[in-house]
Amino acid sequence: MKLLICQVIVFLLIAHAGVCQTDAIRLATKLKSETPILEDLHELCDQIGGRVTGTEPNEKSVLWTKNKLEEAGVKTLVEDFEMPRKWVEKSAKARVSGDVRFRPKIASRAFSTGTPEGGLEAELILVGDGSREAFENLGDAVEGKFVLVRTPVMTDLNELFLEYINAVEIESSAKEFGALGIIYMSSREKKLLYRHLTSYGIQNDMPMVVMARDDATRCERLLVRGKKLKLNIELDLVDEGAYMSQNVFGIIPGTDLADELLVFGAHLDSWGLGTGANDNGANVNMMIDIARQMTALNIKPRRTIMFALWNGEEQGMLGSYAFTIKDEKRLAKVKMALSIDIGSGLIDGFFTNGRPEMIPYIEALLKDFDGAEKLEHTDACIVGTDNYDFLAQGVPNLVGKHHVHNYCSDYHSESDTYDKVNKANLKQNTALVGYLALQLANSEELNFERQDRPTVQKIIDKYELESGMTALCLWKGWLDGSRGVK
Ligand SMILES: [Zn+2]
Repeated sequence: MKLLICQVIVFLLIAHAGVCQTDAIRLATKLKSETPILEDLHELCDQIGGRVTGTEPNEKSVLWTKNKLEEAGVKTLVEDFEMPRKWVEKSAKARVSGDVRFRPKIASRAFSTGTPEGGLEAELILVGDGSREAFENLGDAVEGKFVLVRTPVMTDLNELFLEYINAVEIESSAKEFGALGIIYMSSREKKLLYRHLTSYGIQNDMPMVVMARDDATRCERLLVRGKKLKLNIELDLVDEGAYMSQNVFGIIPGTDLADELLVFGAHLDSWGLGTGANDNGANVNMMIDIARQMTALNIKPRRTIMFALWNGEEQGMLGSYAFTIKDEKRLAKVKMALSIDIGSGLIDGFFTNGRPEMIPYIEALLKDFDGAEKLEHTDACIVGTDNYDFLAQGVPNLVGKHHVHNYCSDYHSESDTYDKVNKANLKQNTALVGYLALQLANSEELNFERQDRPTVQKIIDKYELESGMTALCLWKGWLDGSRGVK
């Protein structure tokens, strides 16, 4: 009798695993077939457009996402959270005068201060690459001037991270030596402009702009030859206090493990120069399509899946941060958080963010996925997207690792538009993430520990995350305990 019970249990376990796997394969196959994902991406990017948190297009995108999920029969939750500073650029103009006159093209850096009517005018001087040494060599000559910082053309993710990290020294030196404002040479070629956070994040309190590379290199050539240039910048901004924004969730309730949560997310907001296609409309639509097809196939995962369309990511991952501090009991139920935010290059593995023990587990979950043999996972850590607060809270978390397709050249720039998204890759990535999502939801062994503060600190030390966290304004919050596990 005992033997028979064991045999029945073994049979049920095998049968259960078989059903789950079939569901994951069914889902992946469906996601690879024709679905509304690309038409939805067109609506979000071309029709709604750039979605700066706090603006009307962003609010429209919140409603649009909720409607898309509800039309697909997915349960939704819209959760308010407070954004600390409302900041939007209305226009940015510049004028060079003095020995030579022309009008360079500029964009304000995030949370730059505005200028009075008629603009802010001062002499423009070169500070080389903006190193502390360069500022020290100039000494008092920096006081009250606009400083032009030379940058190399950025071509890959490492150079992009360096751009963020170098800004810490550039910006603190400019402040210390009394510069009136910082003029960054655009690190993209020709006239392309972009916008992202400075090292002061939402606390930025000086004028900072990016000047089109063609115009900034012209200024540099003139200044090197001893020409005197004055620069006038006129930044018309919305710069106000706190306001409310919203995260949107699509929820697929679990069955026998319904109390365990999986949070799979992508951020809905974008900077407003382009239309936020590779960053991150493509992956918002990945999440919506997975939720839609799971529902259409009547798939019932064992754990509850929350598809999270975060807001306020570009301002410092503020929507996902809000989620992690809203409800400690809910956070304690989160078994895994996953973020997809590196464009539409093919996903070639996952970052396990400081947990090497997760790699064989993910490999086992994905072993029957068509193309699994090409995936290579890494325990390297990402701190620049919505996984960050889960990592800092000690919650197991993953980030999709993509081949970098167009991601860097168009990153946060005017050219991040629908046409830049690699549609075939997006379909393949969606199938992979859908497959992984369901395998995680149904896995017998999903039981990675919630880490305490000393363990998270060990990850920060081992993976040398301090400089990246400083550049992204996360270090102080970690140190004072306002952000991360206490
Ligand atoms: Zn992003």
